Amino acid sequence: MERILVVEDNKTLAKLIAKKLSAELDFEVDVAYKLSEAKLFFKRYKYFLALVDLNLPDAPNGEIVDYALEHKNHVIVLSANIDKDFRNDMLKKNIIDYINKSGINDVNYIIQMITRLHKNQNHKILVVDDSIVFRKQMQSMLENMFYKVITVAHGEEALNILSTTPDISLVLTDYHMPVINGLELTKEIRKIYNKNDLSVIVISGDDDSETTALFLKNGANDYIKKPFSKEEFSCRVNNSIEALENIHAITNHANRDFLTGLYNKNYFLNNMQIYFEKATNENENFAIAMIDIDYFKKINDTYGHETGDKVINSVADILRASTNQNDVVSRFDAEEFCVAVKNVTAENALKIFERLREKVQNSVTISEKGEEIRFTISIGVAINREDTLDESINQADMMLYSAKQNGRNQIVHN
Ligand code: GH3
Ligand code: MG
Ligand code: MG
Repeated sequence: MERILVVEDNKTLAKLIAKKLSAELDFEVDVAYKLSEAKLFFKRYKYFLALVDLNLPDAPNGEIVDYALEHKNHVIVLSANIDKDFRNDMLKKNIIDYINKSGINDVNYIIQMITRLHKNQNHKILVVDDSIVFRKQMQSMLENMFYKVITVAHGEEALNILSTTPDISLVLTDYHMPVINGLELTKEIRKIYNKNDLSVIVISGDDDSETTALFLKNGANDYIKKPFSKEEFSCRVNNSIEALENIHAITNHANRDFLTGLYNKNYFLNNMQIYFEKATNENENFAIAMIDIDYFKKINDTYGHETGDKVINSVADILRASTNQNDVVSRFDAEEFCVAVKNVTAENALKIFERLREKVQNSVTISEKGEEIRFTISIGVAINREDTLDESINQADMMLYSAKQNGRNQIVHN
């Protein structure tokens, strides 16, 4: 488990922070009350980050900050000192944030901040700027916020990186650059990615008041004007990443089945309608299988509904493991699944489904009371192309009906 070190001589506050951190986040928390204790902890463990108070009994002037930074730690400063100059001096150091500790809201802010930083590790940011000094500065700030960072010197290179690295969350771009400038780059990016898939923030010292609107109208999510404070920068970057995550969560919710996490029927139909047309035009072969658990009602009746759910999840896991990324695996209804295998010959499709049938037959699910449950599935496969997606699904359904009629635990195809 990852660890956080809290260095704070106010024992009540230290304990409150530690308690909240381990209750709400999955961290092991150590507490030190002075610099000398903190040093021992730093020597013993590697920390995700350290929360440090500036005024400690054996280090009254923020000495802990330099010590922690020198030993390559991520640092958030806690302070009761609200002097503006002092605060700015601290922010010039490579700390993540400066938090005034005055009440419970500040503790909640700390929790939110750490949650954010922990999730930042999942995001890649592409920095595009022709100034090497600026690239380095941004890289260091972003890495300190736990982002993964790629830097390039101009727009053309940025487009190359984007085409080979599909999981970039945010592009931070300068305006004036040789070859392709920031505006051209933003327009190019928006031909491929929409605002909900990839965020673009423009950073520029351009004084023209129309520039901001120009960028926003052409698809930038935000605009940061130089010179900017470190705090403004980190808030804007974090906000745009958080917006992406929220949209992603909502979309995911609408497309997924709650019990298994597989796609739902609605997503299957939408995704497959687009694919069906493309495959018809390009004469690409695919297979649609309707899969249903045999005698499922009996499992429910014998072992209870919760065990029934476990059985449904076992099948979902096997379906996920037996197909690849492009295939669409969905739960249509109770114990009925629909799977589309794309770009596949009839022969290979049948092999895939046969393997699947065997895997389910050989699998064991443990009931709520610990009993071993074995069960089988029947599969109806539509291989030959029909005129519409509906007809193809209907064919698979008819084949499934035949498989049930013929005695279950088998595959029937058209
Ligand atoms: P067959 O072999 O012909 O497929 O028979 P079966 O018993 O598997 O199929 P049937 O359609 O008769 O029964 C399905 C049952 O699934 C009926 C319903 O109460 C139950 N069911 C529906 N949704 C859920 C669910 O989300 N979880 C669980 N555990 N059971 C469900
Ligand atoms: Mg059934
Ligand atoms: Mg059924």
